[in-house]
Amino acid sequence: MEDCLFCKIAERKVPSTIVYETGEVLAFNDINPMAPTHIVIIPKQHIESTDELDVNNYDAAGKLILAATAIAREKKLDGYRLVINCKEIAGQSVFHLHCHLLSGRPMHWPPG
Ligand code: 5GP
Ligand code: ZN
Repeated sequence: MEDCLFCKIAERKVPSTIVYETGEVLAFNDINPMAPTHIVIIPKQHIESTDELDVNNYDAAGKLILAATAIAREKKLDGYRLVINCKEIAGQSVFHLHCHLLSGRPMHWPPG
């Protein structure tokens, strides 16, 4: 999608520090990390949010989680949190589906 930041990152039109990649998924370091490890995992396909998932594309969400698992194993993360914000009120600021992988500090619940 033309004016989407994460599509541009996937197309290498915007630079990022890529940490993991498959045919369908890309993961890169968050520019404004909220934890010592803060990785953003995206489907290369443009999907606006979880609200756009349906029977035809729901596997994209599973692939994000599988990528997180692979990265966590590779980096030997000792516990981590996965976050997917959907829509502005829930904290989504980039409208291309993504999963945050956060690790390296204690985290609390509820998140607020
Ligand atoms: P959201 O708030 O939509 O759940 O998460 C978007 C994330 O993208 C934020 O954590 C933000 O720091 C990150 N981000 C925004 N712009 C860029 C960028 O240009 N490069 C990278 N690597 N991360 C970005
Ligand atoms: Zn996009």
